[in-house]
Amino acid sequence: MARYTDPVCKLCRREGKKLFLKGEKCYSPKCPVEKRPYAPGQHGKDRLKMTQYARQLRSKQTMKRTYGVLERQFRRYFAEAVKTKGVTGTMLIRKVESRLDNVVFRLGFAISRSHARQLVNHGHILVNGRRIDIPSYELRPGDEIELHEKIRSNTDVKKAIESRTSGSVSPWLEVNYDLFKGKFVRMPDREELELPLDVQDIVELYSK
Ligand code: SF4
Repeated sequence: MARYTDPVCKLCRREGKKLFLKGEKCYSPKCPVEKRPYAPGQHGKDRLKMTQYARQLRSKQTMKRTYGVLERQFRRYFAEAVKTKGVTGTMLIRKVESRLDNVVFRLGFAISRSHARQLVNHGHILVNGRRIDIPSYELRPGDEIELHEKIRSNTDVKKAIESRTSGSVSPWLEVNYDLFKGKFVRMPDREELELPLDVQDIVELYSK
């Protein structure tokens, strides 16, 4: 399966915002976006006027990078969102939000989405009691997610859970850290997500 393997902090610097791709480091002063708040490369500090197309492109890249989805798959999500009854932007958000790796991260079982993807790939996640090792697996409302016993004492998993127990999970999810279980209760609404982008930009870009 194809995936992005270059340094991920460059992606945040390119978008000029934190995409929270590295876990703990993202919340510390070591975050490169805080230390060098400009795009990477020789012309990174140049301030260019943003055209409408550039803005739409940046919104699309931000969304892809946030969820760790490559172009081909993202286009497929868009095509499916168009065919689904409802507002295309909302349907697109629901497509990426219902990915298993994203939900494992949002439930607080992983320190980042890439860590969540690794947990899924290595067979540490059960959905409705069945082992699922496909990070893009699409969850449906009511699906139950569970950490396999063998991974519950893993240092990164513990760290992720400890950092979340004080806060609450997204309102469309439920979690029980004592049982290492969570539930994808319902699909989220667009307004419930604080995404650093305008999803309408993406709809306009792909509709050209
Ligand atoms: Fe992005 Fe996190 Fe790297 Fe900061 S530390 S640049 S938020 S991935």
